[in-house]
Amino acid sequence: MQLSLIGYYSDFVVYPLVIAILGVAGLIEAGEEGTPGWIGTVLVCLGLWTLIEYALHRYVLHHVPYIKDLHDRHHVEERSPVGTPTWLSLGVHALIVVSVWLISDFAIASAVGCGLMLGYLWYVSVHHMIHHWHPSHPSYLYTLKRRHAVHHHIDDDANFGVTSIFWDRVFRTARL
Ligand SMILES: [Zn+2]
Ligand SMILES: [Zn+2]
Repeated sequence: MQLSLIGYYSDFVVYPLVIAILGVAGLIEAGEEGTPGWIGTVLVCLGLWTLIEYALHRYVLHHVPYIKDLHDRHHVEERSPVGTPTWLSLGVHALIVVSVWLISDFAIASAVGCGLMLGYLWYVSVHHMIHHWHPSHPSYLYTLKRRHAVHHHIDDDANFGVTSIFWDRVFRTARL
């Protein structure tokens, strides 16, 4: 939805704080013995986020009524502050953390939450940079910017991944 500038930028303040607090609490709970497993769970969930990012963009942002209209607007007005409000995305993450906590324990739930939220923060950061920055060529960011521009302006059935092209290659939607 249309966000105020404070609303648009609040992800970049709120998420690092929440991730840091949840991470410290989770590592204390996991203890020295549980730390390698905790870090492993974070990394697995970080990887899982890239698949969630692909699926959300391909099937939700481009197909669900109302959300599709907002996303279509982003495709045209790519620099205007249209996005998901922090309270909404954070609420979904909180729901996931509490659900995992109920069926397992806090250490695992905090690791799942940190992994997914790190992925989400990386996604919103990269998406902001590729629309507002002018990365030099060649660079990781330049490649992502070029691929995302193809999705925006040439073929919106391709390049759904923003932070990587991996799942587009897997599902044959990559267009370079
Ligand atoms: Zn975009
Ligand atoms: Zn799109």
